[in-house]
Amino acid sequence: MLFSSLALLAASATAVVGCPQHSNNKRSHLQGRQTDPNANTTQNIWAYEAPFNWGKLSPEYRLCQTGTQQSPIALSLGNGLSLNHVPTFNYAGPITGNFFNWGYGPAFTVAHNGDWTSHPSFTYDNETLYLTGWHIHAPADHSVGGDRSKAEMHFVHVDAEGHEGAVLAFRLDPGNFNSTFFDQLPAMVGFDEMQTEESVEMDLSLAMEAVQYFNEFWTYQGSLTSPPCHEGIRWFIARQIMFTGVEQMQAILGASTYSARAEQEVWQHRINE
Ligand SMILES: [Zn+2]
Repeated sequence: MLFSSLALLAASATAVVGCPQHSNNKRSHLQGRQTDPNANTTQNIWAYEAPFNWGKLSPEYRLCQTGTQQSPIALSLGNGLSLNHVPTFNYAGPITGNFFNWGYGPAFTVAHNGDWTSHPSFTYDNETLYLTGWHIHAPADHSVGGDRSKAEMHFVHVDAEGHEGAVLAFRLDPGNFNSTFFDQLPAMVGFDEMQTEESVEMDLSLAMEAVQYFNEFWTYQGSLTSPPCHEGIRWFIARQIMFTGVEQMQAILGASTYSARAEQEVWQHRINE
């Protein structure tokens, strides 16, 4: 019993923390595709196949069971759209970062020089938050009117001190034309290639254009969608779907493995308030 408790603690201390927290933003300045033997590929002690027991796996995961603002939730036009917390964006220009796989799907981390305020940002309610990177879940975490997109991309933002504060969610589905955002990426890194990373330059504003800069959106008070399920995250979900080409979507799905948490009961989420 003691041994298993210690093993659990050790495992949780070194586990790759899933959505939306990633810690590899210090990897940078790579040439071509590389393998990093120091990449943290420790297996998680939690699994998407069993999201209902996350709360009992570790004391640090209690909020997964007891939280009042857990994510994701089901949304619909019955909620209306938000007239509050309207975001404005400062995403212009090319950004360098690392393209990799977070173990469940494609991901990208903005190269970090120690100053979060130098990253792309957005502002709402006089508060500015800075992009750490993005990652993809498949299928989508959030459903809308009962429809679940094939995938969902999360842009994770922190405050100037590096504390997570907000996530922008883009629902992804196949359409008739290639996405200019995904056209910027090299060949996908597979979910079983977590030690592979590649330096990539991206114009992230192409994602904003695809959803008309969140001109219509839902917002609510939520949490990380994987352990430790910390709360205090403001979610923004674009109403507009971000469409990809069929082959682009197949490449995204081929690099992904099941990574959607079961939807949580709406409780103190204050949707659009
Ligand atoms: Zn996520």
